[in-house]
Amino acid sequence: MIAIEEWKIVHIPDKPPISPDQQPTVNIYAAVIDPMHAHTIVRKLNKVAPLETLRHVKRVLKQKLEGKTQLSVMLCLAHQNGTQLGSMPDDVCEIINSYQLSVFTTKVCKFPALSKEEWIEQCKLWPTSYHPPTYNIEGITGFSEDDKNVVLGFMRLAVDMAKSDHSQVVNAAVIVDPLSKQVVAKACDCVNSCPSPPKESSSDSSTLKNTSPPFSGVSCLYPWKWAEQESSFPWHPLRHACIVAIEESAERDKKLFPEESKNEILSSSSSMIRCCSPAKRQKTDNVVDEEAVEDLSKTTRPYLCTGYDIYIVWEPCTMCAMALVHQRIRRIFYAFPNPTAGALGSVHRLQGEKSLNHHYAVFQIMVPKTCI
Ligand SMILES: [Zn+2]
Repeated sequence: MIAIEEWKIVHIPDKPPISPDQQPTVNIYAAVIDPMHAHTIVRKLNKVAPLETLRHVKRVLKQKLEGKTQLSVMLCLAHQNGTQLGSMPDDVCEIINSYQLSVFTTKVCKFPALSKEEWIEQCKLWPTSYHPPTYNIEGITGFSEDDKNVVLGFMRLAVDMAKSDHSQVVNAAVIVDPLSKQVVAKACDCVNSCPSPPKESSSDSSTLKNTSPPFSGVSCLYPWKWAEQESSFPWHPLRHACIVAIEESAERDKKLFPEESKNEILSSSSSMIRCCSPAKRQKTDNVVDEEAVEDLSKTTRPYLCTGYDIYIVWEPCTMCAMALVHQRIRRIFYAFPNPTAGALGSVHRLQGEKSLNHHYAVFQIMVPKTCI
C-alpha cells in the first residue's frame, strides 16, 4: 500500500508561471507632480491618454522621500529604447507644459499579476492592482483529505491499467462521475495492433522497432507515429486512451438510456452547432437551448461528459485534449507530463485558450516512485 503523503496534487494554471522578478515590462513616461494638482492632472490624462493596455497599472505612484510624500504620475507609453519626447501625443505635451512637469522614463509591468508574489514584485517598479483569480470549479483551490483520497485512488487505477500489459507500457484513461464517485468508462491505448515489444535479438537492427524510445507505446507521446509506420506495422491514428474511453462512455449512455435517442440527436446537434461559425451558430441557437440541454443532464441522460473528471497517466496530446473540451469534461488529472506533444502545460495550454467555448481545470498528480 502506498502512503498517501507521497502523492501530491498540483494545479496547472491557465498561463505559464513567470518568475515574479522576470515579468515583461514596458517603458513609460512619468513625471513628479504637485499633490495639489494631482486630481486634475489624473483626470485630464485619463481623458487624453487612457492607457487601455495598462489598466492594471495605477496612474499614480506615491513615495515617501525624506518624510515627505512625493507623487509621480504615469503620462503615456514610451518607446522601448527612446527617451526622446518627440513621440508623445500633443495633448500630453500640453499638460506637461501647462504644469511645467519634468518628464522621466521608467518601467511598469506589462501584464496583470497572476499571483500575490508576482504582484509584490510588480509594485517594486510601479504600483499595480491585483485581483486574485476566481474559479467556478469546486475543488480547484484545495482538496479535502477525503477528496484527495478519492482522486488518488482513481489515479492509482489508471497507473495500474497503464502497466497491466507487461509487454508494453501504454496510456490509460479513467472517466469518473465525481458525484457518485463511480467509474463511467476506462480504456487503454488501442493504437498498436502489434503490442509485443521488439526482441533484442532481432537480426534487423534498422527497423523502427529496435530504435524506439522509452514509452514508445504511449499514443499521446507520439501522436504522429501513425505517419511513420509501414503498412506491416499499423498504428491507429485516433485510438488514444482518452478517445477510446470517450467512446466507451457514449456506449454506456446508449445502453443506460435507450429510450432517449431524441436527446442524443439534440445533444450531438448542439455539439455541432458550437463548432460552427458564429454566423451559423446565431441561426441555430434557437433550435437547441443550451440551458435546456444542461437541465436535461441533471435528471436524465448526461450531456456528453458534462461534470465528469478524467484521470490520464500521461498528459494528453492536442487531439485528446480537444476531444475533452468537446466532451465538457470538468477536471483533468494526469500523472506524467508529455514534453513532446502535451497540450495542457508542456507544449500547449488549452485550458487557457480564451477562444474555446469550454474550459476544464487541470491538475498534475505527482506519483511516488515506488508506484511507477
Ligand atoms: Zn492523445
